Amino acid sequence: MAGIPAGAAGPATEWHYIVVEVDSSGRTEPVYQTRVRLAAPRASLSPEQVALAHERNDLPNKGVLDVELSVGSEVVFRDAVPFERFVHVEFPVDKEGRLVRADAALSRAAAAVRVPAVAGAVLSLRAGAASPLELDLDRLDELAAGFRLAGAVPQGIASRLSSTGSPANRVDLLIMGDGYTSAQQSTFTNDAANTAAAFFSITPYSQYQNYVNVLTLFTASSQSGADHPPYLAQCSGDNPACCSDPEAQGDPLAGTYRATAFDARYCAAMVHRLLVVDASKVLAAAAAVPDWDKIFVLVNDSVYGGSGGLISVTSMNASSVDVIRHEYGHSFSHLADEYESPFPGYPACSDIFGPPCEPNVTDQTSFAAVKWKSWILPTTPVPTPEGSSYAGALGLFEGARYLSTGMYRPRESQCLMRALGLPFCSICAQAYVKTLYDGGWGVPANGIDPIEPGSESPPPGTVQVTGSQLFSVGVLSPAGGPPATVAWSVNGAVRAGQTGSSFLLQPQGTGTFIVTVTVTDATSLVNPAMAGTSLTSSRQWTVMVNGTGSLLFADGFESGDLSRWLH
Ligand SMILES: [Zn+2]
Repeated sequence: MAGIPAGAAGPATEWHYIVVEVDSSGRTEPVYQTRVRLAAPRASLSPEQVALAHERNDLPNKGVLDVELSVGSEVVFRDAVPFERFVHVEFPVDKEGRLVRADAALSRAAAAVRVPAVAGAVLSLRAGAASPLELDLDRLDELAAGFRLAGAVPQGIASRLSSTGSPANRVDLLIMGDGYTSAQQSTFTNDAANTAAAFFSITPYSQYQNYVNVLTLFTASSQSGADHPPYLAQCSGDNPACCSDPEAQGDPLAGTYRATAFDARYCAAMVHRLLVVDASKVLAAAAAVPDWDKIFVLVNDSVYGGSGGLISVTSMNASSVDVIRHEYGHSFSHLADEYESPFPGYPACSDIFGPPCEPNVTDQTSFAAVKWKSWILPTTPVPTPEGSSYAGALGLFEGARYLSTGMYRPRESQCLMRALGLPFCSICAQAYVKTLYDGGWGVPANGIDPIEPGSESPPPGTVQVTGSQLFSVGVLSPAGGPPATVAWSVNGAVRAGQTGSSFLLQPQGTGTFIVTVTVTDATSLVNPAMAGTSLTSSRQWTVMVNGTGSLLFADGFESGDLSRWLH
């Protein structure tokens, strides 16, 4: 990867990249390990950040792998790696694009763990209440030779589709492929570029395209396509030799089997459209691009299919891009489905009794308690009647999250979480933007900072000056505008007119002054009443001015008269 200083070595830059499988009882087994260099090292999480990861992911269909690296009794690195116990697929059942959903439980969930290579450390991996697996890091390379996927992971060819900034302050999206032969590398390159361009062409992904680096990894398969198990009514379980889903009868490629790098196959768990890949092999190959935060896998096959979960998988069917946009709504923005087709057994949620519902659905029906109330006009009734003049408004419409009653959504019909071929509603778009800034999806752990880390000049902290001093920061604004607002203040008083990325302090005397810059994303995609502190970042300098004479600033405000600044 680019960005690694030549000759840099040691714990700060050399990392173990370990693929771990977690079974239904929480037992963990490493299946692959290699050493990597990270361009953006992962920070050790605080206990609070670990607790937050559990809060977000301790659900019946998900989990968190607790990762601790200890030297003696001291924990030197801590991480919380989410994993998913299910894969699911959604497909339209009518020409309006209305969706239904099918899930398949994974007997083993996969996760990728990245820990610094610290000499003498012991790595502890724990899922839920199961007893932790402990690995001696000094012996890991040796142990790894016996791991199930050792020597079985194909080497890929990495490249970049877009470079928008340091991986330390961006989402790093990795697009991989399966079922592309070595002769089809350019097909993969085109498919990845077309998928990315289409993915980023709708709100809110378009506005924030410059918050995402897009990388690709081409992995050659010996054959082109995917496995299409033939129809067999009595087929059952997760048998890859046949498919009991009647949908398989209409598959023009039924009965075709292909040897591919990641074992792409249709009809997982007897749902024909459930197209899955071997997630452990995908994660192992992804070590070639070790800074990835999210992974898409494109399968070189034109039959409708895909799956969501830890990895978004899609065939190259014409509707694939819309499916990936929707799946990313689940996997990145933590959105719920807004359609009503029943999905028995799906874990319940409640904003009244808990566990809380996703940002775009609620069971609260009084206006004051609806979490997106600041988006609802006072003239809109709550709950909001359907088929009325409110069809284009934000309100509270009954029917969402696989239920036709008792659960509510923000828009009557216009949302990609309800049906394909539609834009995201404002609440779903807002959730994406807030998640970019709140983090929990990789590095940076606390989300993207609108002040580019490391861009500050001079570095924040105490600065000794004898005369004027220029302060500046790198400001990150969404490419889709508007520009972020910038405010500079001295001793808490905002300096009028100072709204650029730099500020010249011109003291004409001695004293200590606090200079602060505050940058706020001014997007209209987030309602100010719901923004919290997510969209704001600041930096501070303590400026010690050594000199003589009266203290006079460039704008004529004298330091002795602080009251004049505090208007
Ligand atoms: Zn969905």
